[in-house]
Amino acid sequence: TLVLIISAFKTADTDPKKPLYMNASAKVEDRVKDLMSRMTLEDKVWQMCQYVGLEHMKAAEAKIKPEELAKNDALGFYPGLRSDDIAKLTTEGKIGSFLHVVTPEEANELQKLAQQSPLKIPLLIGIDAIHGNGLYEGATIYPSPITQAATWNDALIELSSQETAAEMRATGSHWSFTPNIDVLRDPRWGRTGETFGEDPYLVGNMGIATIKGLQSDDFGPDNVIACAKHLIAGSQSVNGINSSPTDVSKRTLFEMFLPPYRRAVREANVYSIMAAHNEVAGVPAHMDEYMMNDVMRDRWGFDGFFVSDWNDVSRIANWHHVARDFKEASLFSVRAGLDMHMHGPKFDEYIVALVKEGKLDEARVNYACEKILTTKFKLGLFENPFIDLEEQKETAFAKAHQKTALEQARQAIVLQKNNGILPLAKLVPSGAEVTKNKKIFITGPNANNQTILGDWASPQPEENVVTMYEGIKKVGEKYGYDVTYFDSGDRSKKMKDNDIKTAVEKATEADITILVLGENSFRHDWKNKTTGENVDRATLALSGKQMKLANQILNLGKPVIVVYVSGSPIAEPTLEKRAKAVLNTWEPGSFGGQATAEIIFGEVNPSGKLPVTIPRSVGQLQMVYNHKPTTYIHKYNTEKKVPLHPFGFGLSYTTFEMSAPRLSKLTFDNASDIITVSVDVTNKGKMDGDEVVQLYIRDKVSSFTRPVKELKAYKRVSLKAGETKTVELKLTGESLAFYDKDYNFVIEEGDFTIMTGNSSHKKSLQETTLTATKHLQIAE
Ligand code: BGC
Repeated sequence: TLVLIISAFKTADTDPKKPLYMNASAKVEDRVKDLMSRMTLEDKVWQMCQYVGLEHMKAAEAKIKPEELAKNDALGFYPGLRSDDIAKLTTEGKIGSFLHVVTPEEANELQKLAQQSPLKIPLLIGIDAIHGNGLYEGATIYPSPITQAATWNDALIELSSQETAAEMRATGSHWSFTPNIDVLRDPRWGRTGETFGEDPYLVGNMGIATIKGLQSDDFGPDNVIACAKHLIAGSQSVNGINSSPTDVSKRTLFEMFLPPYRRAVREANVYSIMAAHNEVAGVPAHMDEYMMNDVMRDRWGFDGFFVSDWNDVSRIANWHHVARDFKEASLFSVRAGLDMHMHGPKFDEYIVALVKEGKLDEARVNYACEKILTTKFKLGLFENPFIDLEEQKETAFAKAHQKTALEQARQAIVLQKNNGILPLAKLVPSGAEVTKNKKIFITGPNANNQTILGDWASPQPEENVVTMYEGIKKVGEKYGYDVTYFDSGDRSKKMKDNDIKTAVEKATEADITILVLGENSFRHDWKNKTTGENVDRATLALSGKQMKLANQILNLGKPVIVVYVSGSPIAEPTLEKRAKAVLNTWEPGSFGGQATAEIIFGEVNPSGKLPVTIPRSVGQLQMVYNHKPTTYIHKYNTEKKVPLHPFGFGLSYTTFEMSAPRLSKLTFDNASDIITVSVDVTNKGKMDGDEVVQLYIRDKVSSFTRPVKELKAYKRVSLKAGETKTVELKLTGESLAFYDKDYNFVIEEGDFTIMTGNSSHKKSLQETTLTATKHLQIAE
């Protein structure tokens, strides 16, 4: 039957009786208009409704006792509704969108049901394809966003996003709930690994690269729509806990949190934006009319649709207590600008009733419906909502995608310390010392499992993943190493004292121990997660008994190499002091073990740079490089005021030397000026490698306080041993502008310090001065 339906769709165009909206060659605007003219108020509201997929629901139902099922809403599922009812609602055209439909078979089944509805409007299927289409078993799992940010390589993020879009379409999804462009200001937040770090410019660039990779101006069968999330500032909750309140000034919103959203709209035409769980200064994000309407739509021209986050409309009432009930919450939310409800029943009834009661302007429903339908037309869903299962077989985990995932991991891994022990083989400066049969012992909670995949990934087929142990063994054996492994407890909280004892004994027999430590955000390991969504960290130290294991092995006095697997910073200064080398691999994805091994043995020169500051302790928070001038006027009584590692930092096996920055012009005179900043970079060492040239500015005197440093440009450059290249970076009006007292985007007359180097640390930077000769208004 599916084949018949597909061919019916392919020929629909030639039928003269078909309505205009079914005519693929008509203009999208005309098709939307025609379709809307045939829709009732109810039909339009149903387009605003999203539900979870059937399989998702069936799995939840299976876990709940029948007597509980009718009333249970614990998982956000629908009291009184069963999966069969959802199927029926779909055939009645009462559902416009689904989320978390993971398999192509289910996607086809649902689209088939939708085709039985009177208007045959295809479904828009959304999924959290955050770093690869990870909820699908058999997908390429790219490094997590914080890991991707550590590459400082926008093009590589655009490429993996393009590949992700193709893998999504192959399984029937059209809408990825990514990028997360929350600017991370508190790494206790469990979702740190989902962000691109603490800097609004880096986050903006990575977000734009993601959107450009997923979407297209001219949507083809391998494009999806993106979703910038979460509006806004949930990454700086008062206590680091997900969904708890944020209380930041308008200035902080405009300078720190909003720039990536402005750019996602202006530079990448993002099709959807998701509201945040949290409130800001007393206003729940889901009813923040100022943010959704005045800022995003009116000020910056956002032309897509807003989607709620999971159940957050009803939470305006039952969490935030600013609406009496779900109905009033629905009113507040849609009136403020929300267009689609994630997820479930009642919302539709309430919206229809509110319009009929004259409380909600029908124009809001029309607007929402129009945007959602436009998206469906642009994606080509009316022409063919189905997937050809045969044709798509090869897309998931395609060879080319695997290559990108590996390359991203290679470029993301940050060498935080090296006393000279690394690399262990190829091109080691003391190459002669590499004796065959050196014994390497590997242990630690993240050494031989899929924690390397990070959050938003389902367990993947074993053969698709290279664990740390597998990678190190395979590459190490090439160079004559004898590599053994002991499972010291598969997750940090479970580590038993006896296992620690055995691990120490094994380390005694080895020449070098590689300790694979860190945290665990692996979504399908709920009980053992130590970070991730709704699992926030009260300390940035290693969880559980990891330090006990590490200290006992370090006490043996033999060389220890620490490999971290964690989506968020690990603040363990003593461990870093005692270890011979520290590699921060973040959450490196399917080929994390291979990339790490290539770096350990010197096949790849490390080049990742930190996208967040690594504090020494949780007490130092908020610790960010782009702080205000008075932040460190005074000192702590028991802690240093410098971080363990600064933003932008990362070591290499070679040494790079950089010249001071040269400016193409010493003055900034017109809004359209572009200043080229040139830096000569020389690879002074014996190994080829990549360096990331970073450019920071400081507005020397301004009418409002400004950060001591702000990243404004960067470029990754590859240099052969001995080679010199000149890197050119650009400064535009936008780089120098900030918001004046009336929130105009302006450059104030005066001097700017221009700093270039290979980290944000002052010792790594050289500077010069650029002078703005007059007050300039800049287009946002
Ligand atoms: C998260 C969103 C996500 C949504 C759907 C929510 O809990 O906050 O980021 O897209 O669930 O899975």
